[in-house]
This record gives sequence, structure tokens and C-alpha cells, in this order.
Amino acid sequence: MMHDNETFHHALIVDDQKCIRCTHCVKVCPTEAIRIVDGKVHIREERCVDCGECVRACPQKAIGIDHDDLELIHAYKYRVALFPSVFVGQFPERVTEDKIYASFLELGFTHAFEVEQPIGVLKELIRDEIKANKSDLPVISSFCPAIVRLIQILYPSLTGHIARVKAPHDLAAHYVIDRLTRKGVAPSDIGLFYITPCVAKIAAVKAPVGEEKSVISGVISPTVMYNKIMAVADDVPPFDKTKLWKGLTKEGIQWSLTHGETWWQNSRTMAVDGIHNAIKILERLENDEIKNIDYLELRACDRSCAAGVLLAQNRFLTVERLKRRAKRYPSDEKKTMTEEPGKYATLKEKMTTAEINPRPLLRFGADMEKAMTRMQRARNIMCHLPGIDCGACGAPTCQALAEDMANGEAKMSDCIFIQQLWQKDGKVEPDKALERMEKKWGENRFDPDCTKIGAKNESN
Ligand code: SF4
Ligand code: SF4
Repeated sequence: MMHDNETFHHALIVDDQKCIRCTHCVKVCPTEAIRIVDGKVHIREERCVDCGECVRACPQKAIGIDHDDLELIHAYKYRVALFPSVFVGQFPERVTEDKIYASFLELGFTHAFEVEQPIGVLKELIRDEIKANKSDLPVISSFCPAIVRLIQILYPSLTGHIARVKAPHDLAAHYVIDRLTRKGVAPSDIGLFYITPCVAKIAAVKAPVGEEKSVISGVISPTVMYNKIMAVADDVPPFDKTKLWKGLTKEGIQWSLTHGETWWQNSRTMAVDGIHNAIKILERLENDEIKNIDYLELRACDRSCAAGVLLAQNRFLTVERLKRRAKRYPSDEKKTMTEEPGKYATLKEKMTTAEINPRPLLRFGADMEKAMTRMQRARNIMCHLPGIDCGACGAPTCQALAEDMANGEAKMSDCIFIQQLWQKDGKVEPDKALERMEKKWGENRFDPDCTKIGAKNESN
């Protein structure tokens, strides 16, 4: 089953007990996917692209992530930890990369593998894509799953530009399977566990776009692994280097940072990070205002995966550590796949996705006639709303509330300013107005409370 036209899998879980309905998440969501309904945060699945902005913005840490349990690894004879370079960039200097690798083995994995090791395969595929799409450039990177989903729902006309190339974690997974099965290991004995830096990559593993099913067995929280590694790293026994496949290069280490997919290319490229910056570029691309770019690297997080919402360390420090680390490694150009001709041919085949289909967000439904009527209705409603975009209705903007009303998903009385006018005109009793507000925001919401956490306590 391909996931292009199915409901997206989402890994976000809102804890209603922790949530104080502050609307920070509602306000930051780039696709206007969040509403407050009957005192609870409601995420509209068809709109969510798993960018993680809401997780970052929540001062209560009320939006959690659905990870797999580390215990799951013991169901397999060969237990492979797949982790991105940015995970290595989380640790302080004294925890060297050798210690990190050794700690994975100490903690029960049989193999530890940095997903950017065989990155030369992706470089070749990207070059092939640019060549094959000469008449319809730029090719847009498929690296960031949040960007792929964003394009599918908000810029459906651009889906044909997305590179049909899988991500490094898929590459690593296939590479490891290939290496182990060549040694006679049964595929069913191999468990591949990805230590993922962000929400979008969990979703990409659980419901890959343009692919039937991921070969990855589970996703593990980087916080869980970081804490476990920190607890054992100082005392780990000497590292058995034979367990390590040494394919890491400068390009691989920096791949998930901004410019990671572009700095080594000779063609004309552009790298953009931050989801709101990406949206601006996609709008310009859709309007045909961007010319002469061959390859467009777009990443949802500011500083790319170094700012993965599941990573705890400062993103600038992570970037600095990885750039310094990369200097110690050879360039990929000196270790091309031609060293082992033919060996990667099947791997390259497995790294190509099926066609990525658009999944346009139909704001007013699929029925064109009804949609036109609803759109007009939303315009009329907008005439009456104050245009303050305060969020006190539970929608991010007055326009979003108007659309919800036109679709029958909200009422005029959700607007507190309209309620005020109605009270002044005697159209609604003050008690009734308060009752409506309490229904939306919770019964004790308007009692004095000096323990509230505000925006200044938001995470990084
Ligand atoms: S940002 Fe505010 S409204 Fe959103 S989940 Fe967190 S506490 Fe609730
Ligand atoms: S993950 Fe991103 S798109 Fe999804 S609800 Fe949160 S902010 Fe919105």
C-alpha cells in the first residue's frame, strides 16, 4: 500500500492534562492544522506535515512523540542501531565517537551504523535526477519528509519536481541488510532501529511516501539513547572496530546540515532552511519566479537536522561540532562507488521511490460547486470578523475561523468580539456568553492562577 493517497501517519500525541490551551501551537503551525475544540487541542491530520513547530512552541511540553520501546530490539538476533551524524553532534567532547559506537554495543545492539556512511549512492542519484530533468528544473530535494508533505498538500503542482530519491536512513537500512545477508544472515533476524532526530522522520518510517513499507523495524527516541549512552560511555570496554563499517566521509557527516546536499555540487543550487523560508521559496517557484536553479535543498528546521525537534542540544553547537568532525574525514569524491563497480547497482535501484503524488489540501471540500459557495460564504463572514487574529476563537486567524464556519466546523459565537457586540445589542445574555467561553477554554480557565507558563519559557 502506497501512502501518497492514504491518511498520513502522525507521531504527535497531545497530553490534555498538561495542555493549558495557550494557543502557541495553534499560532505557529504553518499549515493551520491546529484548533482548540471543546477545551482540547485538535490536530487536523490531513493538514499536518509533521514539521514539529508545535512541539517546539509548546511551553508545557504537552505535545509528545510516539516512539517505539527500546526493549523491542531484543526480538531480533541482529540488532542494528541506525543513527544520524547530528546525534553524534549532541555529545560533549569527552564522549568521543568511538565511545558512542561502543556504548551502542554495550546497550544491547550488535551493530552501530551512522546512516550517512554510504552517502555516495545518494550523490550519484541526485546527479542522475538533475540530468534526467533538464527540461523541468529545479529538482527539489526529498531529504526532509516535512517538506515533501508540505509540497504535496500546499504546492501540489510542484510534486513532479521532488527527487525520487529516498533518505539516508533508507539507504543505510538497505546497505546494512545487504551487508548482513551477504554474510548469510536471514533477513527476519535483522532488526533495524532508527534513532530519529525529528517527528517528520518518524512519520516517514511509519508511512513512507511513494513506498509500500519501510524496512526499518522501529524508531527510538534520541533522548532515551542519549541518556543511556551518557550513563555508560565513561566505562565502556575497548571498542571492537570490526563491528564498524568505515564508509563515513566529509559529505556524509555534513549531509543533514544546511547546504549538506549542495556544497559539493557543480550545478547551480540553493539551500533554504526553516519552514517559513521554504514556504516563501515554494510560492516563488510556483509563480515561476525562480529561474536557473538546478537543485533546491529545502529543510523544515532552521539549521536543518541539527535543530531536529527531538534533539536536546543547541543547534549551533551541533553544527560547529559536526563541521569540525568532518575535517578529520576524507572527501567522498576520493572514495567513489567505482571502487566497487556493480556492488551498489541493486542498492541504487532500491533507493528510488515510486512517483510522489499530490495530495492537495481542499479547503472547502472536493465538490467544486459546493466549494465555490463555501468560499463566497467565508468571504462574507470575513466582513464581520474583526481581523485581529487573536486566536481566542481557537483558530489561528480570523480567515481560518471564517473558513471553518463556511465548512460548518465553527460558529460565529466562537468569536469573542462578536459575542461582545451581541451582548451590547441584547442578543445574548452575559451568562450564556461565559458558558460558551468556558466550553471552549475550560471551566476554571478564568480563575486567577499565578503559575502560568508564558512564551518566554518556550523551548529553543
Ligand atoms: S502550545 Fe499551549 S495549547 Fe498547544 S499543546 Fe502546548 S499548552 Fe496546549
Ligand atoms: S507538526 Fe507542524 S504541521 Fe503538524 S500540527 Fe504541528 S506545527 Fe502543524
